Amino acid sequence: MTEQTALVLEEKGKLSIRDIDLAQSLGPDDVQIAIHTVGICGSDVHYYTHGRIGQFVVNAPMVLGHEAAGTVTAVGDRVSHLAVGDRVCMEPGIPDMTSRASKLGIYNVDPAVTFWATPPIHGCLTPSVVHPAAFTYKLPDNVSFAEGAMVEPFAIGMQAAAKAKIVPGDVGLVIGAGPIGVMTALAALAGGCARVMIYDVVAEKLQVAGQYDGVIALNPAQPVDAQVLEATGGWGADVVFECSGHPSAFKTLFATPRPGGCVVFVGMPVDEFRFDLVAAQAKELRMETVFRYANVYDRAIELIASGKIDLKPLISGTFPFEQSVEAFDRAVEARPTDVKLQITLPG
Ligand SMILES: [Zn+2]
Repeated sequence: MTEQTALVLEEKGKLSIRDIDLAQSLGPDDVQIAIHTVGICGSDVHYYTHGRIGQFVVNAPMVLGHEAAGTVTAVGDRVSHLAVGDRVCMEPGIPDMTSRASKLGIYNVDPAVTFWATPPIHGCLTPSVVHPAAFTYKLPDNVSFAEGAMVEPFAIGMQAAAKAKIVPGDVGLVIGAGPIGVMTALAALAGGCARVMIYDVVAEKLQVAGQYDGVIALNPAQPVDAQVLEATGGWGADVVFECSGHPSAFKTLFATPRPGGCVVFVGMPVDEFRFDLVAAQAKELRMETVFRYANVYDRAIELIASGKIDLKPLISGTFPFEQSVEAFDRAVEARPTDVKLQITLPG
């Protein structure tokens, strides 16, 4: 254990910047990373404001943050694909590589997976971390630390697009224009959609999303299903991504895909609720669910480096580490024009 400074969630509603003991021993397959940029995620904010997400409860002080990029400062004996000085981003989930889930390639649903800033595991809002090299990815020179820290949330959009099995020329629809919704729309375009409509009840969020070529912001004041049918000659969208997690979205959800289309459930509703399964069965919809991501980081980085995906317009504000608490309080405000807030660490 090494004592080092970090942004610590002491308990629900109480953050502090202070020294805390963190495991820092470098195993043969690990790398040590000086953290440069960390994005604030909705989950970090939810632990701050509610002290829990479902079964995960903050019972002891926990370091926040899981969307990170930085520079390698040491490598374990068996690490060959990374070297000191490499700029990298990290997958925050660490599975048991011998598990059945990992062997199937679905390590994101390994029951033994540990994930940064999911109780009781500490996150990465601290100057230095040790992480498995296998889940640490080199950033090309033209990808900034800020973009590197966006790979984590973008990976969820990538997972959703992959699960949708998009065919070139598909018409997409995203419901919910928060950070994940916008990044899902971009991944769907990169995955072959000809156009992606996006809907939200908050007009400002749609303005951010609608800046992108190929992303069509729908009218927040009109029902989404009528607009989608109008825009598709009454047929419906080929692939629909539910990214709001809001029960009200389910009232018209199954009216938006075409017969035989696909609905990917990305947003996570807070509570149980009822929905009309028969409306989905009557169209023989294919339904997919997304929990984090697996095997998409390399491809996410390729798309960003190629210039096909530009996440920079989604970074709404950057705070120095000393102002981490202010940054979180700004995130709690949930300004509709804020997409992603980031924190940068000194040195
Ligand atoms: Zn996140």
